[in-house]
Amino acid sequence: MSQIVDKFIEYYESSPDMKQFDFGIFLKNEIATRSPTFRWLSYNCDESLFIAQLRECIITNLEKNPNFKNTDLYRKKSIEKLYNILKKTSCNITEEQLAQLVFLLAFSKAKTGKLHFENTFFLSDSIQIVQKKDRLDVLDELDKFHKVLISLSSVHELIIDTCNEILEMRIAEIDFASVRLKYFDSFIPGLNGFSGRDIIYISEREIEALINEMNVRKFSLGDQLTILKLNFFRLFIHESAHLVIRKSSNNMNISTPELLSESQKKKYSKFEAGFIIENKAFNDFIDWEESVKEKDINLEPCKLYLDQLISNKIGNFDPKLAHTVKRQSIITNCDFNLRKVKYFE
Ligand SMILES: [Zn+2]
Repeated sequence: MSQIVDKFIEYYESSPDMKQFDFGIFLKNEIATRSPTFRWLSYNCDESLFIAQLRECIITNLEKNPNFKNTDLYRKKSIEKLYNILKKTSCNITEEQLAQLVFLLAFSKAKTGKLHFENTFFLSDSIQIVQKKDRLDVLDELDKFHKVLISLSSVHELIIDTCNEILEMRIAEIDFASVRLKYFDSFIPGLNGFSGRDIIYISEREIEALINEMNVRKFSLGDQLTILKLNFFRLFIHESAHLVIRKSSNNMNISTPELLSESQKKKYSKFEAGFIIENKAFNDFIDWEESVKEKDINLEPCKLYLDQLISNKIGNFDPKLAHTVKRQSIITNCDFNLRKVKYFE
């Protein structure tokens, strides 16, 4: 079923002494056998077909990604991680491996450089699902807040209206009660979250980093919770927008830039569903970890916005009044904090 993946595994195993991996030779030899619908990954299909297509799309996305240069040679120890996960998931799959593959699906389309690809492939197997007994206590609070968010009609409307606007059709719908939330840890620098099939993955490690910054600056517990909830809300709507668009299009491999018309591209400053919705909610793309480092961050507008949100109203957030900090730059498909990515080119 996954012919390309089998060929990739075969090619990798054919030269055990190779120090660097040459995608160019592999892809050139595979072009003739490629299926024309390789970019499609059905969202609504059974698990085994989904996994098979998911594995295949990671390789074909790399081939189609102009930023992933086939002429470059890649460190074998990084590509070995890609090989391992594809090899191990040919028959069955753990929830960790599923999360890793879903992350790789998004990352395989990233507009980034060779070193960032290598480094991230190398760390991709560090994604681990956090078990309830081991996790930070504050995640209980965020779980409660998540339950509130999914009960709010204003949040539902924000997500559905944004997705319909991007799709230019009224087709998006979702029952958020059926979307699971999973926290993960990883060593991938700056990875805040990603979305899977009816699952939203959120990084515990990045939440912890935000708490650490607030502890250093002696934020009260109440103020910490305000910021953590606003950051959670940002992540939740960001990943939900991706999820709803993919589910509504029945294509897990769809990217917003492919959906946007020329006139839409004039309208939006960022061609990414997650950022389009963040900008709608906050009138900016906010980096909350950088914002809490600002001496003059003004928490009053943040508290007011959160109070309004909980009472089912999306307020008009003023980033200038709050003195929040804009995110550095943006990679489509993955929610990365690029301030933390050393190898970004
Ligand atoms: Zn995104």
